[in-house]
Amino acid sequence: MKELETRIKARITAEGPMSVAEYMAICLLDPTAGYYPTRDPLGSDGDFITAPEISQMFGEVIGLWCIQSWIDLGRPPNVNLVELGPGRGIMMSDILRTGALDKDFIKAVSVTLIEASAALEAVQAKTLSGANVPVNWAGDLSKAANGPSIIIGNEFLDCLPIRQFIQKDPFAGRAGWHERLVALDSDNRLSFGVSPVAISGVLQQDLPRDIDDAKTDDLVELCPSARHIIDQLSERFGQHPCRALFIDYGPDTTEFGDTLQALKRHEKVGVFSDPGNTDLTARVDFAALQDIAREAALPVTHAVTQRELLSKLGIEMRAVALSKSSSNADARAKIARQLHRLMDGEEMGVLFKAICFQSTGLPLPLGFREFL
Ligand code: SAH
Repeated sequence: MKELETRIKARITAEGPMSVAEYMAICLLDPTAGYYPTRDPLGSDGDFITAPEISQMFGEVIGLWCIQSWIDLGRPPNVNLVELGPGRGIMMSDILRTGALDKDFIKAVSVTLIEASAALEAVQAKTLSGANVPVNWAGDLSKAANGPSIIIGNEFLDCLPIRQFIQKDPFAGRAGWHERLVALDSDNRLSFGVSPVAISGVLQQDLPRDIDDAKTDDLVELCPSARHIIDQLSERFGQHPCRALFIDYGPDTTEFGDTLQALKRHEKVGVFSDPGNTDLTARVDFAALQDIAREAALPVTHAVTQRELLSKLGIEMRAVALSKSSSNADARAKIARQLHRLMDGEEMGVLFKAICFQSTGLPLPLGFREFL
């Protein structure tokens, strides 16, 4: 048996079943055997591929969004460009190349990368070794330098640990929610169980709002770290003009159902199949994020689809320009395929959404239709 699996089982034997969030956090971030700290999982040779890895056009148009955001913040002479979960650093490198189109913007920028994995931090350092701006790393958003900030995160929220709750008593309303746990079955295999005790009143208040019509065995997910991040944004955004953009996969209304999934070499596998060696993610509940922001009085936009955002940022025009400058038909076909993958409704265009949080009093961000 593998080392991390042995450790997780020993812990369950000693302390009892653990929450899905604890299981996810250990699998993804255990410093010696967790998924992210021990490898570079991205790209076609890895386990999954993300938008900036598919095409440079993605980071380039996000770069334009960053320039416009800096203008909206009032063109501060110094701006922190903070990225959460930067992967291989490709998106930041594409953003900075585009950012150089505005000399005043690029002069104002210093970059802070927030990365949990030492292995990926090393890859980021390499990708950004020739960067035209200062680049630093911080362990946590609260440790990034204070001041006007533009914060971005692509496929970051989906790897934050989620807790899961199952409605066991249809007549008890919110009182009928029981936490789904990771336990051991009679053959000592990892398996799901459900806590016999209903959750506390305090925890019930944290559940997504829109679940009153839950039926027996409906499952709802809660991402406590997302609340923590929005609290951190709220504190920072109250002090200086700031804006944050997150792009991720998930619905724009709270949906019932288990969305925890494991990926290995681009295929779905069981979430217990190989702890620490598969990528674990869950859909982002954009409605829940908006509710948390509203409670914190943090201005937040409606979610827009990735297709709408990228189109408004001019990605089709960028594709045409790149195609015109490519030397052969193969290169042009590749650009068309990349654009299709990012934009098509059957690919990433609709499942992926963008949401923006910002300080009070700033204009509507580029690419979005309205505030909530
Ligand atoms: N944004 C990149 C990578 C997405 S993968 C892209 O689009 O290609 C998720 C990234 O988040 C990885 O870099 C992973 O190491 C990092 N990560 C996961 N959990 C984290 C946490 N709690 N804090 C900081 N980084 C985290």
